[in-house]
Amino acid sequence: MKTLGLIGGMSWESTAIYYRLLNEIVRERLGGLHSAKLLLWSFDFAEIAERQHAGDWQGAGDLLVEAGRGLEAAGAQGLVICTNTMHKLADQVQAAVSIPLIHIADATAQAVVKAGLMRPALLATRFTMEQDFYKGRLADKYGLQPVVPDQAGRDMVHKVIYDELCQGVIKDGSKATYIAEVGRMRRDDKIDSVIMGCTEITMLIGQSDFDIPVFDTTRIHAQAAVQFALS
Ligand code: GLU
Repeated sequence: MKTLGLIGGMSWESTAIYYRLLNEIVRERLGGLHSAKLLLWSFDFAEIAERQHAGDWQGAGDLLVEAGRGLEAAGAQGLVICTNTMHKLADQVQAAVSIPLIHIADATAQAVVKAGLMRPALLATRFTMEQDFYKGRLADKYGLQPVVPDQAGRDMVHKVIYDELCQGVIKDGSKATYIAEVGRMRRDDKIDSVIMGCTEITMLIGQSDFDIPVFDTTRIHAQAAVQFALS
């Protein structure tokens, strides 16, 4: 089994979910007392979020590159950036190390394609929904047609992620608002599925809330990482 280097803490709420999932999936696959071989670089998310909201992607990239190099030096054989948003910097991190980076958008797109779907709603941070690094990859590399909420919907989804989920706060009202937004997109935008494109959204909603397929990027990414580790 290969050792995975996790670039996490963005937020730690979802990194904790990754930690559990990676170990559970290894146990499912290998049985007994087996568990995942992991190294974790966990950021103070306030320092990352500050740079994101100031548009200082250069500064954030420097921090992620330092993490990737540190994990490689410590013995990691593959890298997992435990957030969708920070995959904006995935190419930069990949270029700085000589071990492979398991890309969350590739794993997610492959799951959508495999399910025979092509028009997923993308619920994520404003950065992921509004910039091209993620949507563009789904479209250009996999032929998908991701749809994002309208301005008011994007503001709401983003705010719930940073003001609630990343702080461990789960509210029934926010869950209802997310579900209503998907309902509206289903009616107006003809979506055929939902990508939970932020690694904390799995704390709020899940497949049981919808009657169209839901893709949980945290779980899909963890599965791809274990697949790599055991290959
Ligand atoms: N974990 C979230 C994501 O998957 C948001 C926090 C971040 O900006 O990294 O995008």
